[in-house]
Amino acid sequence: MNNYPQTLSDLERRFATEEACRKYLADIRWPPGFSCPRCGCTEAWGMGNGLMRCRECEFKVSLTAGTVFQGTRKPLLMWFRAIWWVVGQKNGASAKGIQRMLELGSYQTAWTWLHKMRRAMVRPGRDRLDGIVEVDETYVGGEKPGKRGRGALGKALVAVAVEDKGAAGIGRIRLAVIPDASQGSLAAFIAQTVAQGSTIRTDDWIGYGTLQEVGYKRTVVASHELKIAHLTISQLKRWLGGTLQGAVSHDHLEYYLDEFTFRFNRRRAAHRGLLFFRLLQNAMEVEPTTYRQMVKRVRGRKPSNHKG
Ligand SMILES: [Zn+2]
Repeated sequence: MNNYPQTLSDLERRFATEEACRKYLADIRWPPGFSCPRCGCTEAWGMGNGLMRCRECEFKVSLTAGTVFQGTRKPLLMWFRAIWWVVGQKNGASAKGIQRMLELGSYQTAWTWLHKMRRAMVRPGRDRLDGIVEVDETYVGGEKPGKRGRGALGKALVAVAVEDKGAAGIGRIRLAVIPDASQGSLAAFIAQTVAQGSTIRTDDWIGYGTLQEVGYKRTVVASHELKIAHLTISQLKRWLGGTLQGAVSHDHLEYYLDEFTFRFNRRRAAHRGLLFFRLLQNAMEVEPTTYRQMVKRVRGRKPSNHKG
């Protein structure tokens, strides 16, 4: 069964009421049906405002508490439309685009929504890569090529981890901005993205020298043999180039990396409706973030009014 919308008009027909949106989210949150977090009872009264009341102990549960949608004052259908729009933007979504599409008065709201959706694209610390994982780093942005391990003006250093599934090809990827290519930074990236016990394939860069000490196996190859990492990097750069025309703001780069990762890891999920469904699923699992926390996260800067 394809339990996701096929087209925009299908989406608007299926989710014409808040009740229909809530029912869909409830099915995602409690796939076998409602279960009271306090007493485990599986029957609840829907209270019509997104609250469920347990029939047994009368505990009230908010459908959207602890999710990306927590505390939203906008109709869920607007969120559904925004998510539908974002997953349809193959070249990346911008806050301006969301603002235009939803006719939002406030750029800040659009920006906040985009970043909430970003949080749902990659769930930090979950679903680590495993098996054989190729790891490399690359510079993104700026004019001149950067020197390894030192940093370069106007550039961001991006670490890349790619699962090698052998005959099945490339598996999942993870990307992150790292401060430098030191042992500490690379080990931290790998600890966050790859399960211990995995085999990490790298070149002979000294920055990868401590991996065996922290629970990984390591295979060293010549730099040009890191084929799947390089393939991923070239796709990333092409995508960033097409999306941003080279103008990468470092504050927003992580957003684009997460968005690229989301799309890349689901590249075989051809249907837009399935991407929509996956993003909603993640959104129901991710902890909520406030605008204030997001702004703090991007080094205290306010969102600027250009590329979202
Ligand atoms: Zn209960």
